[in-house]
Amino acid sequence: MDENLKMAELLFPEVDTIPDDYETKYPKRVLKEGAVVTRFAPSPTGFLHFGGLFAAFIGYMSAKTSGGKFYLRIEDTDKKREVENGVRLIVDGLESFGITFDEGMLSETEEKGEYGPYIQSARRGIYRCFVKDLVKKGLAYPCFMSEEELAEIRQGQEKEKKLPGVWGEYAKYRDITADEARARIDAGEDYVVRLRSPGDANKRIKFKDLIKGEIEMPENIIDVVLLKKDGMPTYHFAHVVDDHLMRTTHVIRGDEWIASVPTHLQLFYVCGFKPPKYAHISPIMKEENGGKRKLSKRKDPEAAVDFYKKAGYPAGAVWEYLMTIANSDYEQWRMANKNEPCEKFKFSLSKMSKAGALFDIAKLNDISKTYISTLTAEQVYDYVKNWAEENDYLLNERLLNKEYALKVFGIERGTPKPRKDIAKWDEVREYTEYFYTRPKELVYPENISASEAAEILREYKKEFDNSVTAEEWFPKLRDMAERMGYAKTPKVYKASPEEYKGHVGDVSTVIRVALTGRTNTPDLYLISETLGYNEVCERLDFAISELS
Ligand code: GLU
Repeated sequence: MDENLKMAELLFPEVDTIPDDYETKYPKRVLKEGAVVTRFAPSPTGFLHFGGLFAAFIGYMSAKTSGGKFYLRIEDTDKKREVENGVRLIVDGLESFGITFDEGMLSETEEKGEYGPYIQSARRGIYRCFVKDLVKKGLAYPCFMSEEELAEIRQGQEKEKKLPGVWGEYAKYRDITADEARARIDAGEDYVVRLRSPGDANKRIKFKDLIKGEIEMPENIIDVVLLKKDGMPTYHFAHVVDDHLMRTTHVIRGDEWIASVPTHLQLFYVCGFKPPKYAHISPIMKEENGGKRKLSKRKDPEAAVDFYKKAGYPAGAVWEYLMTIANSDYEQWRMANKNEPCEKFKFSLSKMSKAGALFDIAKLNDISKTYISTLTAEQVYDYVKNWAEENDYLLNERLLNKEYALKVFGIERGTPKPRKDIAKWDEVREYTEYFYTRPKELVYPENISASEAAEILREYKKEFDNSVTAEEWFPKLRDMAERMGYAKTPKVYKASPEEYKGHVGDVSTVIRVALTGRTNTPDLYLISETLGYNEVCERLDFAISELS
């Protein structure tokens, strides 16, 4: 029997399939020209980093805007990194931001799609079949080197400034015979299966990264591990087989993998697979002390995707933000196309930042404020109620009176210039506080004495009852101000300040403070209408008594 065949049967006696079986089982996808088939391929750690959300978003957009497919593959060959329910947490986490999959894992055990299993631990037989085939072709071999031997080689290589790893003369078991391998296996020795790398140290490879452009690197010469001691594949090998059989056209992933591309391309080549297109996403950066650094899981709370849910950023706002950092011309497009769905925007991998998008929470807040300002009161109510149920007991209680809450959220909403006050739902309780509790600490403008403030409030209470309409309210307030010695407008006041005690703004501020405890609020008339006439009177009485 041929030596390679003998070795293949020795290492994989249980494998009775051949690669062609899988080629038939997973046929080429019938999709339109240019359709992107891509995947999000996390380990089931349950933890979703903002960079992961961003990568998933980019994959989703690439597939959706090209009429392709986006699937979720779980890479669980490293059991140490697993957490309970890790898959579910990732699926739910992404879904809460509107990122859904056409195929792939739905939970730890369920999946959908024709190209599965979509979890690597269930694909052991597939990987072993492909490695067996490589052994048969003399392209892979068992390596019995111990950890100590490997460490020794590495040390020597470091000293001599040579490429670290098992290659060339260091690849001790490259030419091991099947009989020798059998003897070692019978003696109970562990082994991995390595690629017999066809690489040439003097050659370089070139490839075009869809984000980073043309890249040139030395060819891989290392006999990388394909199967680990437990018979499971390494990431390198597993993803090559998976991306091929799942008919992936684009590998979109973090750029920490860019150094591995020569290995990956070589693996596609030795397996006889057409390589996918690559797009390596630069890490999200953050400005700090005038410099830039990577957004860090350890240092930055906003690096964890949970942060956005807890703070109560609406998914749509995060989505808008992701679009902005993905393609910098999105913002301009959005301004010109306020009501268009973002799918209409020409999204492109080539427009992504090579240096790494800059994370800016102030920008996210701005985008979120604008986004929230376009929602209806009913939408805001639903969002806030949902959020408060999990995150704010007191607010949740307050929202039980839906009719009142709708009035509160409806103030200055649906107008051509809605207010942009709220960036996230954890601000709502504070923002709406005075609608639910009477203000206690009333601080009036410094230029108004206590007796003057009391006078204004008394006068206001006399003048204004339930019958005043929105149109009448401000002109009436102006008249009242003028009668009391205040200028009707700031402009009039500025022209001859010596003639007035102040202007109408001072008068309205005194009333605002008495009713809300704040100097800056939405429209006072609408606030009063929401609070109701009796409540307004009681607040005025309380403020007057405090001042006297
Ligand atoms: N499992 C790899 C990771 O978590 C996936 C990389 C890829 O998308 O190919 O980084």
